[in-house]
Amino acid sequence: MVVVKLTDERWAAESLVSMSPWQRLSAELDQWQALGRAATLWWRDDDAVTATPALEKLLGLQRHHGVPLALATIPAQVQEALACKLEHHPQIAVLQHGYAHENHAGEGERAIELGAQRPREVVVEELQKGWCNLRALFAHRLLPVMVPPWNRISPELYPDLYGLGYRALSCFSPRSHAELDCGLLQSNCHADLIDWRGGRRFRGEDPTLEQICDHLQARRQGRADATEATGILSHHLAHDDDCWRFLDTLLDRCNRHPGARWLEADEACLGQ
Ligand SMILES: [Zn+2]
Repeated sequence: MVVVKLTDERWAAESLVSMSPWQRLSAELDQWQALGRAATLWWRDDDAVTATPALEKLLGLQRHHGVPLALATIPAQVQEALACKLEHHPQIAVLQHGYAHENHAGEGERAIELGAQRPREVVVEELQKGWCNLRALFAHRLLPVMVPPWNRISPELYPDLYGLGYRALSCFSPRSHAELDCGLLQSNCHADLIDWRGGRRFRGEDPTLEQICDHLQARRQGRADATEATGILSHHLAHDDDCWRFLDTLLDRCNRHPGARWLEADEACLGQ
């Protein structure tokens, strides 16, 4: 029996190697379906500020595929034109993306806006002001979810966020806990379409699908929190043609597969 099992596993490993990345995604979703489970996914797009041709394209894709989208929006730069554009898109939620997307990192540190470099009161005041800006424009479309610029935040600010009324945080990479000490929930993204260090262009089909499949597989096998929906992260203002093509195909393939289910942002981040 042991020999048979090993052979099966070896066969499975070899067949994975010979699969195209899209076939691997399909095979992973097949596994979820066979288990009677839904491979939950959600879609976050960062850095929205106003109506642009790229935003138009993003909204077109969203509408075409009917996939819920969370727009992480920069409060200090947001313009009314963005709110007008979203009027006829009920499946779009707005999340707060820091305040001004300004880097306050010290020399040699990685980029950060919500860090410990400035007094907490200053950061808190900015966030509050940012929330008011967004609330005035987006009303109930705005969810109490903070998306820190560069996906980085000092944990010292967690209790402040909770005190201000935010209920969830969204960064990048698999979460270690669904709920942080202070009561904030956490729902991250796991696949970034852009290769920021390699020329700010599309990461490529293989590595992007690998990020998605790796997280789905880790959830399925119990190596990651199975209840954290796999987050797809896009940046419409930085997309090249390959990026748009990939996103279109991904949304289409996941929509067609009965093993996959897209979550609205409030369900993914707040469990509602
Ligand atoms: Zn950003």
